Amino acid sequence: MAALTTEVLVIGGGATGAGVAWDAALRGFDVILVDRHDLAQGTSGRFHGLLHSGGRYVVKDPKAAEECIGENRILRQVAADVIEDTGGLFVTTPFDDPGYADRFKEGCRATDVPCEEIEPAEALRQEPRLNPGISRAFRVPDGSMDIWKTVWSLARGAREHGARILPYHEVTAVHRNDGEVTGVRLVDTRSGNELDIEAGVTVSATGAWAGQLADMAGIEGVHVMPGKGIMIAMNHRLVNTVVNRCQMPTDGDIIVPIRTVSVIGTTDHHVEDPDDQSIAQHEVDAMLEDGERLVPGFKESRALRVWSGVRPLFEDRKEDTASTRDITRAHSVLDHKERDGVRGLITITGGKATTFRLMAEDTVDAVCRQLGENRPCLTRTTPLRDSEPLQYYHVSHRLKEKEEHLRDAQLICECELVTRGRLEEAFRQRGSSELDDIRRYLRLGMGPCQGGFCIYRATGVLHGMGGIDAEDANGSLLRFVQERWKGVWPVLYGDQLRQARLDEWIFQGVLDVEHL
Ligand SMILES: Cc1cc2nc3c(=O)[nH]c(=O)nc-3n(C[C@H](O)[C@H](O)[C@H](O)COP(=O)(O)OP(=O)(O)OC[C@H]3O[C@@H](n4cnc5c(N)ncnc54)[C@H](O)[C@@H]3O)c2cc1C
Repeated sequence: MAALTTEVLVIGGGATGAGVAWDAALRGFDVILVDRHDLAQGTSGRFHGLLHSGGRYVVKDPKAAEECIGENRILRQVAADVIEDTGGLFVTTPFDDPGYADRFKEGCRATDVPCEEIEPAEALRQEPRLNPGISRAFRVPDGSMDIWKTVWSLARGAREHGARILPYHEVTAVHRNDGEVTGVRLVDTRSGNELDIEAGVTVSATGAWAGQLADMAGIEGVHVMPGKGIMIAMNHRLVNTVVNRCQMPTDGDIIVPIRTVSVIGTTDHHVEDPDDQSIAQHEVDAMLEDGERLVPGFKESRALRVWSGVRPLFEDRKEDTASTRDITRAHSVLDHKERDGVRGLITITGGKATTFRLMAEDTVDAVCRQLGENRPCLTRTTPLRDSEPLQYYHVSHRLKEKEEHLRDAQLICECELVTRGRLEEAFRQRGSSELDDIRRYLRLGMGPCQGGFCIYRATGVLHGMGGIDAEDANGSLLRFVQERWKGVWPVLYGDQLRQARLDEWIFQGVLDVEHL
């Protein structure tokens, strides 16, 4: 069996794990990052897209609010090109407790979240589709965040500092030698080959799966409650600012404009299994109703797709924590040497995508303590690859780039403006023939047609590049279509139903995709 050795092994390639790999590699450690799927295919790739100002938590969870605003400020300096500076509004709708607005204002002051009260008329001028009955409005520095770009920038940055990145490698066993974790066994989920990694310190950044990983290591009481939430993407930007209802956090109270769409979310239901991605029709119907409260007419707009993700809500059963609903959204680093007398293993869980950098910093500080090293964190001031301070992306940036070279490139995906050149480059960079991996990399097929017009073109390009035979290309196409379908069927009404019928005629009628 093949074997690798490293100083720091990171399990979990979401925002947290990729952040840990970047931080540890920058501090000069030899790093390997593994994930059982593609990077950012866990909760990170299934989140709401909001770069929190912290406003959501100022009353209910001030610690989480302080962490969010602190990280929001730092990310604007070091990772601006993954952020759209949409700004955010908290508005009191006729459905909200009018008394909350003053508590919100006071909470912002206490947690240092910048907040400016504006006239409702001004908020309505800024966002004309908002409920005209709003009575109070506050501006906060929310934004939206492209998570796939973030995670891949972190992974590529880590790789440039020597890290090895292994997606599609699942940890199946944790090696333990008395009071020490010494490494793990992995299976390459694509080839079935097994691999051992020996590591000085193993970091479990497995989010909602952290309890399972701790179990593998024989460590008790790491209880991560998967809190499932659904989100629905609408086919265009109903708002250009993140809009939040000014009330205690509840279901369906935020709309985030992200790239070419806007996303409403979310819910929070405790589930037993972090792999539970089921979506009930009543949740979808309720979410569309919630949208009406913020943006009247919301239900009549075209819903593109619905998906769910699971929050890693950590409850330490070694400590005396009783409540489940109000578990903090701040993060927890468990140094198992201090907590359980087991050297060589650290768990990082909880937190938010917005706070991934701080989570990584705290984790790698714990790694240093275990290894007896004193290496300061550099991620506070080191920009991510391709990022300039405060140089945010803008929704129209791909159109602008395309118009500069109008004749040079064929357009493969009209919705997300992906050119043939960009697609070929992505296939080469990722070294993957899974079209769904390329979707996460380029947002290919994520617009209104959900791949209906672009994905067979992309399949042809992939096959034409010679790296994949016709059978594998067809398999990749079929898996992509099946994956998209999962998110489309719960919102089949109106224009999206017409689109789905058209896609079905193309895929079944013209291509007979199931029998390719
Ligand atoms: C519905 C919802 C909406 C949210 N919205 C926001 C938001 O708008 N803004 C915000 O800041 N935060 C948001 N969050 C929170 C945020 O998404 C998560 O806190 C964050 O993405 C967690 O990242 P992570 O890297 O810790 O976990 P994950 O992204 O889940 O990464 C864990 C990884 O571990 C891997 N893994 C598990 N087991 C194994 C194994 N045995 N071997 C190898 N790999 C393994 C998984 O495949 C996974 O990729 C939201 C969460 C939810 C559920």
